[in-house]
This record gives sequence, C-alpha cells and structure tokens, in this order.
Amino acid sequence: MRVTLLGTGDTTGTPRPGCDCATCLAARERGVERTRSSVHVRNEATGDVLLVDASPDFRQQFLREGVSLPDAAVITHVHFDHLDGLGNVFRVLDHLPVYAADETDPETGESVAETVRRKYDYLDAVSVHPRTPCESFRVCGFDVTLVPVDHPPLLTYGLVIEAPETGATLALTGDTSYRVPDASREALRDADLLVADGIVPASLCSYHPLGGRDEDDAGVPRTFGTKHMTKEGALALADELDAREVRIVHCAHRYPPETAFDPPLGIDGETFDL
Ligand SMILES: [Zn+2]
Ligand SMILES: [Zn+2]
Ligand SMILES: [Zn+2]
Repeated sequence: MRVTLLGTGDTTGTPRPGCDCATCLAARERGVERTRSSVHVRNEATGDVLLVDASPDFRQQFLREGVSLPDAAVITHVHFDHLDGLGNVFRVLDHLPVYAADETDPETGESVAETVRRKYDYLDAVSVHPRTPCESFRVCGFDVTLVPVDHPPLLTYGLVIEAPETGATLALTGDTSYRVPDASREALRDADLLVADGIVPASLCSYHPLGGRDEDDAGVPRTFGTKHMTKEGALALADELDAREVRIVHCAHRYPPETAFDPPLGIDGETFDL
C-alpha cells in the first residue's frame, strides 16, 4: 500500500491564518504546510484509494499531491477538521461510500455514521455504511477495523488498515489522548507505520488551561489537556506498540521552528510504501 499524508495539521493548520510566530514564518519561507487531517491510502494491488477523514482542505490536498480521487472514505469522528471536507465531493465524485462507526454517542445522540448521513443527506454521491467498532470489514481491498480511542467528549476511533495480499499494516490513532483502551492498543500493535496524534511537545502543557496528564515515570505528560497526545505521548505509544515507523500528525503551529518540520513529525505530502 502507498500512504500519502494529505493533512498533518491541527484544526487551524500551519501556517495559521493571521499568525506571525516563528514556526508559521518558517513554514511560509520553506513552503511547508500542515493542512487539516486526512490520509490517502492506495491499494497497489487493486488501484483502489481509501481516504481516511475528509479534510476541509480536500480540494487543495488533491490538487497539490496529484493523487487519485478516493473510491471510499472512513470518518473517524465528527469534528470539523475531519468531516467537513465531505462537501467537496459534489460534482467531483459520482459515488463515495463512507464508512463510520455505528455506536450511539451519548454526547450527540447519534453515531458517527448517523451524523455523516444527517449532514450530507443532500449529496447523492455520498452513501453511508455504518460499521461496528472492533469488527474488521473489507473496503478497497483492505481489511479495515475501527478501534475506540479517547477524545472527550466525542466517541472517536483509530483505524487499522491491512493489505491482505502483503500483510502490510497501517495503524492510525485518530485524535486521542494517551488513554487508548487496552483492546485498541492490541489492535494497533505491530504496524509497519503508526500515524499518531501528537499536537504539541509536552513542555507546552503549562499553556493548556487543564495542563497535562498521563505523566510517564519522569513526570512528562503524555496527554495535552484531555483530548490529544503530546509528542512524547505519541512516541511512547509507538514504542509500546512496536510500530516499525511512526509519524506524528495533528501538529499545532507551536512546535519550535528548528525541529517543527523534521521526522518524526509528519508534513503534508510525505509518502510511505508499506
Ligand atoms: Zn503560528
Ligand atoms: Zn477531534
Ligand atoms: Zn482533529
């Protein structure tokens, strides 16, 4: 499978509109960008493309990377930066099956699948296919599993995407704190590539009104506030799960400019052949 990171930024992206911080200036100077979350996964055996999340930057991402349009999509949760790009398929795609979890979220009173259906009911191209978390399903020739993570207050899912012919495995944490349930950790284990949420370095937790939590033995917070992992949290998770390679995504513009665009932090347009 060929994985292209279409969007590696947080909800505002980098550079952030109106921001003149050193990292946003460095991004503009270097022509580097972090748009909102999306990953393009091409099945080299079938030619099918599975899109993970529909970024509001969908149009720009596909123009920029010159990659094939998706044959199907999976939506991890209903936050703006992962869902609101779906409207871009209007007059671009004739048909887009969208897969999402079928569990009712007490917070919204509907499942991710139901929210997608309600918001995009006006788009004939979009068909919604509810799927039960932790149960593998076949799409684009991949075996795909939604796994619950921890991104309060919304029900949110990570993903495991496996190519049955080659055994290549891509794991994505989705938006999550370090409190990924044990069963989901098991499912995300041993991936060839782990794409992990790491919004800021742990040193910035003091700027969050809730601070950090889920500290390691040295007292370093692995969760920023309650919703996202720190860089250190993402790396600790990758280590624990024995991921062969890791890229940290959902990065804010607050990473120090000297290392903001270097691995293991992902940048838009990076590709991986698994
Ligand atoms: Zn900035
Ligand atoms: Zn989110
Ligand atoms: Zn997000």
